[in-house]
Amino acid sequence: LTFLGIESSCDDTAAAVVRHVPGQPAEILASIVEGQTALHAAFGGVVPEIAARAHAERLDHCVEAALAGANLRLSDLDGIAVTAGPGLIGGVLSGVMLAKGLSAASGLPMVGVNHLAGHALTPRLTDAVSFPYLLLLVSGGHCQFLIAGNVDDFERLGGTIDDAPGEAFDKTAKLLGLPQPGGPAVQAEAAQGDARRFAFPRPLLDRPGCDMSFSGLKTALLRARDAVIAEKGGITVQDRRDLCAGFQAAVADVLAEKSRRALERYLALNPPTPLLAVAGGVAANTLIRSRLTALCDRMGVRFLAPPLALCTDNAAMIAWAGIERFRLGARDDATLAARPRWPLDQTAAPMIGSGK
Ligand code: ATP
Ligand code: FE
Repeated sequence: LTFLGIESSCDDTAAAVVRHVPGQPAEILASIVEGQTALHAAFGGVVPEIAARAHAERLDHCVEAALAGANLRLSDLDGIAVTAGPGLIGGVLSGVMLAKGLSAASGLPMVGVNHLAGHALTPRLTDAVSFPYLLLLVSGGHCQFLIAGNVDDFERLGGTIDDAPGEAFDKTAKLLGLPQPGGPAVQAEAAQGDARRFAFPRPLLDRPGCDMSFSGLKTALLRARDAVIAEKGGITVQDRRDLCAGFQAAVADVLAEKSRRALERYLALNPPTPLLAVAGGVAANTLIRSRLTALCDRMGVRFLAPPLALCTDNAAMIAWAGIERFRLGARDDATLAARPRWPLDQTAAPMIGSGK
């Protein structure tokens, strides 16, 4: 099967072509991602109206570029997969309307995909892993543990009750005058800092379960920064490094301990080939990665981190999720709805006519 994937739920406009022949590794024939970072930079965050307009303007081009990159025409494909939510509604609508138009014009079947399912099924695209596996999705907008039991069966074990870690990294960078995106900048500073100098909390570790909280860390960072400024009149390069190191260590501690608990619950299912996979931009963090790797080693679980370009938002994961759902009989029609909210575990995506 060869599918076109379309993704426009946040601030990346993306199209991709993925081919899969059963028994062989999936092939990403083309994957185009056009970020909008520069468009939103002046506003200190993603502006929904600007995002929607940029998606509407650039989606056609991305689809053409993906088809050209794959050296295929629409008529060579077997189907079209599109992110139908969750996300910024204007962007999701742009993608869904384009997919409906392409499907109507070409007669190709269309499959609506949950963006989070795209992330969650990525380990099967890159490494053909089998169910059930545990996924930690940790990005700028999301943070949750999911047991992937099947293509349409995800159990959410817990997640953040406020900010996502990527957001906390970005805000930390902002408070310390570092560039965006904050994650890489904070990581670079932390590499030369002393994580023990400032005491950061480890939110919710005293409570059972897999829920997490990261907004308190941002407040702790603000307090620590202001205490240094009050004492010395400003912060030095070393103060900044130590603040970054302390903050990063707190995030890593929380993610490692909550991952341990999620793994315990997952291992109770007696999976034949236990596996923890990560997705999302924060999975690029070297400290967090090494903590998770060590944890998995200790617990006898394989650790899988797909290439970063497939961990962050992209359309190859949407094309892939479309292929997987199509094989289970999923087809959508002109009633396919764009959904701003769409939790993965509540209703597995309805198989037919997701708009109803
Ligand atoms: P979502 O996909 O949930 O809608 P998003 O598009 O913002 O959100 P991603 O593109 O997956 O998320 O990841 C971007 C986030 O990852 C940013 O918040 C960025 O700061 C963070 N990030 C990137 N590299 C690192 C790193 N080395 N350490 C920590 N965080 C990082
Ligand atoms: Fe995403």
